[in-house]
Amino acid sequence: MYRVSSKNVVFAMDKCNTPVAEVTAGSQIVFETCDCFENQIQSQDTIARNLDWNRINPATGPIFITGAMPGDTLVVRIESIKVGSQAVMLTGPNLGVLGSSLKNNFIKILPIINGQVEFSDKIKLPICPMIGVIGTAPKTEAISCGTPGVHGGNMDSKIIGSGSTIYLPVEVPGALLAMGDLHAIMGDGEVSVCGAEVPGEVTVTVEVIKGRPFCLPVVFTKDAVYTIASDVTLDDAAVTATKNMVNMLVSKGMHEAEAISLLSLSGNVQISQIVDPLKTVRFELPMWIYNSINETKETLDAK
Ligand code: CA
Ligand code: ZN
Repeated sequence: MYRVSSKNVVFAMDKCNTPVAEVTAGSQIVFETCDCFENQIQSQDTIARNLDWNRINPATGPIFITGAMPGDTLVVRIESIKVGSQAVMLTGPNLGVLGSSLKNNFIKILPIINGQVEFSDKIKLPICPMIGVIGTAPKTEAISCGTPGVHGGNMDSKIIGSGSTIYLPVEVPGALLAMGDLHAIMGDGEVSVCGAEVPGEVTVTVEVIKGRPFCLPVVFTKDAVYTIASDVTLDDAAVTATKNMVNMLVSKGMHEAEAISLLSLSGNVQISQIVDPLKTVRFELPMWIYNSINETKETLDAK
C-alpha cells in the first residue's frame, strides 16, 4: 500500500507535474488531503481577505500509474474516505449563487462529532463524505484544480464517495492521478460555493483498461451509473451528460431512439454544482436497468 502525504499538492492538473509516486495497476493508495483552503481557516475569526487565494483547491499527487497510456481508461475504486474532526465553510460577496446579496464574508466552523456535522445545536447532519476534486492530467494545457472537465477535476458531485468507482481518461503516460477537496457533506448545487470543507484521507485502488469503453467521466455506485459532464451552462452540460448515457446504452446494442425513450422514463438529470467556472450535471440511471440492457439486445436479436 502506498501513502501520499498532503504536503504533496498541485493546484492544476498538468502533464508537467512531477509524480510523487509510481504505482502498478491493482495498487492500493491512500491520499492524505488538505481542505480546499489548504487548511488556512481554523477559526471563525479568520479574515477571508487575508487568505492566500493562490492556495485554493489543492489536490494531493499526482500519482504515476505504470502502464497507463494515452487512450486508456483509469478506473479508480474509492474504498473509503475518512474526514477530520472539523469542517469549514465560507461564503460572501461574489461567491456562490447568491453572493450578490451578501455584503460581508461569512465563515462557519462545523465540528464533526460522532459522525455528524454540527451545523447548530438542533441541526446535526450525518456525514456523507465525497471527493470534490479528482482527475488526471489533460494532454492539452494545464487545467486549474478549481475547474471541472472531461479529465475530472472539480466536479463536486456528491455521488463520488465511498464505494463509488470512477472512470477517468488517461491522456498522458502514467495518467497523473490527483485528488482533494473532500466534503463531509454537500447538497446538490453547492449553492454557497462550498460544502463542509474538510481535510481527510481517501483510500483507492487503481486499475487500467485499454481503450475507452464510454464517454468519460463515468461513475458507478452500488445502485446507479452516472455520466458526468461540465460546461459553461447547465443546459449544455445536461445535453452532454444525457448524450453520453445514450451512447453507453447504444454501445450495449440498444437502438438510439429506444435508449433515449428509456432514459426519459427511468433516468434522472441531476445538478452536481452550479458555482464553479464550468457547471456540472450528471445523468443517473438505476444499475438494475443498466445491467438488464444486454437482455434487451438479446430480445432484439431474437426478433
Ligand atoms: Ca470543489
Ligand atoms: Zn470543496
